[in-house]
Order: sequence, then C-alpha cells, then structure tokens
Amino acid sequence: MYVCAKCGKVFADDELTFVRCPYCSSKVLNKQTPPTVKKVKAI
Ligand SMILES: [Zn+2]
Repeated sequence: MYVCAKCGKVFADDELTFVRCPYCSSKVLNKQTPPTVKKVKAI
C-alpha cells in the first residue's frame, strides 16, 4: 500500500507502473504497511 503525500490517495503496489502517483503524478509516496492484527493469548 502506498499513500500519496500530495493528494492523499491510497493505492496498492500492483497499481503502480512507475513509482509515482497515478492520480496526480507526484513522486512522493509514503509506503503504508497494513495494520497487523496481533493475537494475544489469554492465559
Ligand atoms: Zn497523488
């Protein structure tokens, strides 16, 4: 997942043909890792 720093659009890695926002063609992209669900074991 990538977030465009300019327009704030979020898109998946496979949407990218170049490392560039497909919406506003900004090259400033922040990589976003999906929130991991941590399972806590109850003792
Ligand atoms: Zn953009």
